[in-house]
Amino acid sequence: MTKERTLVVVKPDGVQRSLIGEITGRLERVGLKLVGIKMIVPTPEFIETHYTIDPEWRRITGEKTIKSYKEKGQIPPSEDPLEITGVILKNLMTFMTSGPVVAMVWEGVHAVKIVRKLVGSTEPLSSDVGTIRGDYVLDSYQLSDKDGRAIRNLAHASGTVDEATKEIDLWFEKDELIDYRLVQDAILYDVNMDGILE
Ligand code: ADP
Ligand code: MG
Repeated sequence: MTKERTLVVVKPDGVQRSLIGEITGRLERVGLKLVGIKMIVPTPEFIETHYTIDPEWRRITGEKTIKSYKEKGQIPPSEDPLEITGVILKNLMTFMTSGPVVAMVWEGVHAVKIVRKLVGSTEPLSSDVGTIRGDYVLDSYQLSDKDGRAIRNLAHASGTVDEATKEIDLWFEKDELIDYRLVQDAILYDVNMDGILE
């Protein structure tokens, strides 16, 4: 099967909480290969481009927020998804530019889905135990909306293969990504597991 590449960004809260190693370690130990990494302080314009790379993002994220409020029996801040994401985007531009972030590209079979599974769902309050967002942080839509800020959930991960391709193109130059062999690839992907015994 073809290997995928996906973008992971340790957000400013992840860097400030000294969780770069924890987050990177979880992706490493599942067998994914790190093919690019850098620390930057993004500009607000860059963050707007990043989050609106998928033309459907505003609608989907707005609808996801409304659904989450209603599932908890709460009233969403607005019934209009686009009004909600207008505010979220502004708050993300403040949050994501507040300090350095660590951008990484990870490669492997099913990399996009595997990384989303390890990172967990958007709202830490409902992210599964065992995921990065479920294990290391405690934010909620309710708290972040009350305080007028973006949800602090430690890391960004591309949502689909198409989104990953566009995001990697935005964050990395071609020569910043390295093709190389990892010795563990032989165990992860080799059909016969031969060549172990002498
Ligand atoms: P994900 O990062 O899980 O792919 P989205 O793409 O839907 O989530 O949203 C991007 C980011 O915007 C989230 O990770 C979170 O930091 C922030 N965010 C999303 N929805 C809200 C919300 N309702 N209130 C505050 N911040 C939000
Ligand atoms: Mg997303």
